[in-house]
Amino acid sequence: MSAPKALVSDFGGVLTTPLGNAFAAWSQESGVPLETLGQALVASADRHGEHPLFVLERGEIPEAEFIARIEAELDGHVLDGMTDALLGNLDRNQPMIDFVATLPGRGLRTALLTNNVREWEAQWRGMLPELDEIFEVVVDSAFVGMRKPEHDIYHLTVERLGGGLRPEDCVFVDDIAINCDAAREVGMTAVVFETTEQAVAEIEAALAGGG
Ligand SMILES: [Mg+2]
Repeated sequence: MSAPKALVSDFGGVLTTPLGNAFAAWSQESGVPLETLGQALVASADRHGEHPLFVLERGEIPEAEFIARIEAELDGHVLDGMTDALLGNLDRNQPMIDFVATLPGRGLRTALLTNNVREWEAQWRGMLPELDEIFEVVVDSAFVGMRKPEHDIYHLTVERLGGGLRPEDCVFVDDIAINCDAAREVGMTAVVFETTEQAVAEIEAALAGGG
């Protein structure tokens, strides 16, 4: 088997600091315990037949509807400012960004594949102004009507990279294990991001053909 030729990277939690930290900070600022928020998400999923985050990330509902659906399950808690607090508590993972930025110069193809929110586009892209220099292709769930771990969004990313690339030619990195499972199911080599050091070592090994 020939060595992979492309990296497909997640955004939140890989090129940024962990999302869990941002949620914890928001929870502290707002006084809504994370457990309460979790229960509201489950209650909304039961009521509407699908998890509100999933429909939000597919761009099927606007952010305001997402917030309204969760607030409807909370006794008087107001989530106003939640997303600003979440994004505001997210920082760049500079060492990981620096690593990915070296790949095009090494002749490797690059794509960003993110589960994201339409209304957040300017803000998350603003965190990564070098986005278009590092990544040839950006696939944002909120604009394509599908989200990880749906197989079709991985296939779409490979198609957009073009050049006869196959999933087998791609190394995928994401901080969520089920997204990595799906990447493997479509034929990619997947690395579950835990730390930058671990992820870079595993990506390098995979790119060398040892994945
Ligand atoms: Mg992530």
